[in-house]
Amino acid sequence: MAMKRAIRDPHQLLRILKLEGRVNLSKSANFPTFVPLEFVSRMTIGDPSDPLLRQVLPLSEEDEEVAGFTSDPVGDLNATACDSLLHKYDGRALLISTSACGIHCRYCFRREFPYQDVANRSHRWQPALEYLRTHSEIDEVLLSGGDPLTLTDDSLFDLLRRIDEIGHIRRIRIHTRMPIVIPQRVTPQLINTLRDLQATVWMVVHCNHTAEIDTAVLDSWNRCVDNGIPVLNQSVLLRGVNDSVEQLESLCRTLVNFRVQPYYLHSLDRVRGAAHFEVSNQKGLELMKELRARLPGYAVPTFVQETAGQSSKSVVTSMDVPPGEKA
Ligand SMILES: *Cc1c(COP(=O)(O)O)cnc(C)c1O
Ligand code: SF4
Repeated sequence: MAMKRAIRDPHQLLRILKLEGRVNLSKSANFPTFVPLEFVSRMTIGDPSDPLLRQVLPLSEEDEEVAGFTSDPVGDLNATACDSLLHKYDGRALLISTSACGIHCRYCFRREFPYQDVANRSHRWQPALEYLRTHSEIDEVLLSGGDPLTLTDDSLFDLLRRIDEIGHIRRIRIHTRMPIVIPQRVTPQLINTLRDLQATVWMVVHCNHTAEIDTAVLDSWNRCVDNGIPVLNQSVLLRGVNDSVEQLESLCRTLVNFRVQPYYLHSLDRVRGAAHFEVSNQKGLELMKELRARLPGYAVPTFVQETAGQSSKSVVTSMDVPPGEKA
């Protein structure tokens, strides 16, 4: 329902926010606009630089070709173990449960991913489940996408139970932005189903700015944590959204106040059309240093980047700052 009512026309979004004629839109974006009204309602009317709006509005900057920004920056197309399963890192595999998301984030590295080739087929999970059954060294499955919580309860519960039947899978991690975008999706039925699984469930949500957090979001986190499902958060460091120490500090503080642990702060994946979100690693490291000074250790996320071909996400260090950028 919330998905059906979502905004798909950037002009309509600008009309709602009383910003017509004040923003230059992309003319060639091949990643459609998609923003649920629940998320729009947290934006400020009349503010063209609203941090939530910036995450979803296709700006004319997307049309600029910028060297180094490509269509598969993290090398996922080479890591597809079989239909809809990415097995890049030891012990854990990522299952692309659906191609759909509850929102389209303009900075997302998956904006160029040819999902139709790997998902959306009938019995599409069979090969992935077969791979998991025969690889006993995998003890954790990440449900990702797309966003797994855009699946219907029937499909999602069926998938969860089939994964849970595989004895060596001890943990199921659900990577989802739905508790932020459409928090009503975290229903009591969903929580009950997760509680009934043998495997331990971890929820990893994706929130970039404190303005994304309203009482419905807090309720969805509480429903998880109260029922024994730990919640982690990952953010992407985004220019014009959260690239200030004040905002990052306030985000991390709010998260731990509500029992959500900051997990990763991602350096932007250099996907085509997202160059206007880039923050230099130099600046990212300075922000991290300041965060460590201001926050308890458990409230500080790890600043990481994804490099094609690596055996894990890599922690960003001063080695990752190009010489010209060093202060
Ligand atoms: C990020 C990612 C994971 C999970 O990495 P963690 O460091 O365990 O959070 C697993 N598989 C793929 C393909 C990933 O991109
Ligand atoms: S995968 Fe996550 S970051 Fe990418 S568009 Fe979907 S919700 Fe946004």
